Parts: sequence; structure tokens; C-alpha cells
Amino acid sequence: MFETLKEQPADKILALVQTYREDPRDPKIDLGVGVYKDASGNTPIMRAVKQAEQQLWEAETTKAYTGLAGDPAFADAMIAMVLGDAVPRANVAAAATPGGTGAVRQGFDMIRMANPDARVFVSDPTWPNHLSILKHMGMEMVPYRYFDDESRGVDFNGMMEDLAQAGRGDVVLVHGCCHNPTGANLNMTEWKALVDLLLKTGATPMVDIAYQGFGDGLEEDAAATRLIASSVPETIIAASCSKNFGIYRERTGLLMAVAADASAHKLNQGTLAYLNRQNFSFPPDHGARLVTMVLSDDALRADWAKELEEMRTGMLALREQLAAELQRLSGSDRFGFIAQHRGMFSRLGATPEQVDRLRDEHAIYLVGDSRLNIAGLNKDSVPILAKAMIDVGI
Ligand code: PMP
Repeated sequence: MFETLKEQPADKILALVQTYREDPRDPKIDLGVGVYKDASGNTPIMRAVKQAEQQLWEAETTKAYTGLAGDPAFADAMIAMVLGDAVPRANVAAAATPGGTGAVRQGFDMIRMANPDARVFVSDPTWPNHLSILKHMGMEMVPYRYFDDESRGVDFNGMMEDLAQAGRGDVVLVHGCCHNPTGANLNMTEWKALVDLLLKTGATPMVDIAYQGFGDGLEEDAAATRLIASSVPETIIAASCSKNFGIYRERTGLLMAVAADASAHKLNQGTLAYLNRQNFSFPPDHGARLVTMVLSDDALRADWAKELEEMRTGMLALREQLAAELQRLSGSDRFGFIAQHRGMFSRLGATPEQVDRLRDEHAIYLVGDSRLNIAGLNKDSVPILAKAMIDVGI
């Protein structure tokens, strides 16, 4: 029966990694895949995570199953990190998932269980996995305007016009911070206006927050998620620990369902546990346990927050250096958006031909939609990129 299978499109970003690996040129610069890298191009294990891992190795006495929703201490620690005291803990149901992707997938699953006809409104563009998962699940998606090709900021008026079409029973998917792939984000006034619109239309927000701590700071990056969750009756939140704890391969994430009051908790919690059970039973524990240990120990937490802050400010400094270098070379301010964007990515707004030329003529690898991973740069490669960008006419 396997012959009836259809070839599935390869993940474009993962295919790019392979082409980069096989490229014999030196130097070559990988600004493609969405992984944080330090100035030497390594993706380090964070100090506090390594320490927690050592402690865990000493102290762990069993590998027996945890609960279907994972260890409740992980949920508590993550809910506190993402939501602070924006909503009462009793209103939040939560389940550990394999990575943020698992949380996104099961968030969609929960939506489909609650309303099989739900339409999911997605930003144009969004993380390609949002689209492919929704397509795989056969769920209806409606793109909303998001990126303004002229300013390289958010087309907020277009976004609001499109989201006015979402009604009760529909879902509006937003990126809590550090929008992937554009790097363009709403300001707090705009988030408030979006909340007012959600209250008016009755559509349910789903927040994907995969980069908390990579934009303006741990608390600042959670502000929009907290505002939404505390303002509307129901919110779905998919959080990833891959980036901010640097534990990509441990597959650590949390799906949260925030309700208007505690009465829905039992039903929502039961639904999340049921979904885990159907999909993979117990969620991975190792990464979740490390996160719990780091967040609950004052010294580990302080060291983790310090290292995360160093990563964040390092990326900001690269943004500023690149914008300044481009300003110097072009004599124009049109690249200022690179310093305004937040998170690991910026969409340059270059044509596919220009992206091809960067790769073919300069050995600089960007995703085809001109998404640039800022963390792939260092002080020395910034001037090389800036010169190449001007050379190919960006
Ligand atoms: N959402 C967005 C927007 C992302 O960029 C990512 C990471 N690429 C994720 C979710 C989930 O990542 P992971 O499954 O590795 O935790």
C-alpha cells in the first residue's frame, strides 16, 4: 500500500542547511536555519542548563512515567514565566508537549475538537509550520495582512481590517513576540486595539510564544500575551523552551488554555491530557525538568536570565551594527528597520533573485523569502553581508 503515498514537499529551511553544508567555499555565512548561534557560530548549552543537568544526573532516582500532562511543577514554573500574575492560576489548564511545535499542533487539535468548523486566521507571512500543520489537519486557514513591504513594519490597518472578518468560533493566531519570519511586531497601543477588536468580534486568540527573552526582555516579551490572556474570556497559548533555554533537541514546550474562570479548568485540563494520550501518551520529561529546576532555583535562574540577556543584547548590537553599516554604504536610512525589528529574524524584503545572488555570488545563505537570522552573524561578518546586500541591489 505504500505506493499510494504522495511525495511531500521537503522543508525548505532544512534543505537549505544541507546545501550550505555541501558548499566548499570559505568563508560562507549561514543566516538560514532558526537556531541561536554565538559569535563563533556555536549553539551553546546554557550554563544553568548544564548545571541543572549535572544535578539531575546525581539526584534522579527513577525514569518512571510522569503524568499525562507532564510534571505539574513544570506547568507552574512556565505559567509563572509566561503569564506572571496576569490571570489566576486556577483559570489555566496546561500540558507539557514535545516542543513548541507539539503545543501548536495540539492547540489546533483542541480548537478542532471544540469547533470542527473553526477558521484559523494566520499572519501573512507566518512560521511555515503553522500553515503545513493546519493543512495536514484539514483545517481552514485565512491569511491576514501583516507585513508592510514598503516600511518593513507591520501593516496594522490591513491587519485590523482583515481580522474584523473573524467571528465567534474562529481563532486568531498571533506571535506573542519576535515575529517569525519578519521580525516586525505590534507596539502596545496596537496590541490593545487588537484586544478591543477580539472583544468586539468574539474570535478566540491563540498566542504562539517561542522567543520570550529574545526581543526586549523576559517580562517585556510576555506583555502582549499577558494583556490578551487577562482581557478576553479564552486564550490558547503555545510556549516553546527551545530558544530561551537553548534545549532545541530536548523537545520542551507547554500548551495552555486560559479560561474566564476556574469552572472550566477540569474540562480543559482533561482535554489537554486526553490529547497527549492520543498523540504520544506521556510528554518528554528531561528538558521540562531542567527548565523547572532552572526557574525554581534562585542562583540557577539568575545565571540563566543573565546569559539570556547577553544573547538578547548581542543580537540587538548586531542589528544596530548592520543597520549602521548599511546606512554608511548606501547613504540612505532605508535599512533602519533592521534595528527596529526584534528577535532572531528580519525579513529584508529582497526578491528571490537577490537571495539567490547572495548565495551564488557571496556564499551567504538566507531563506528564500529573505528571512535573515541575525544570530548567524558576528562583528566580522556584518560588513561582509552589508557589502553583499548593496552589491546585489537590496
Ligand atoms: N513557533 C514559532 C513561531 C517558531 O519559530 C518555533 C521554532 N522554530 C516554534 C513555534 C517551535 O519550536 P520548537 O518546536 O522547536 O520548540
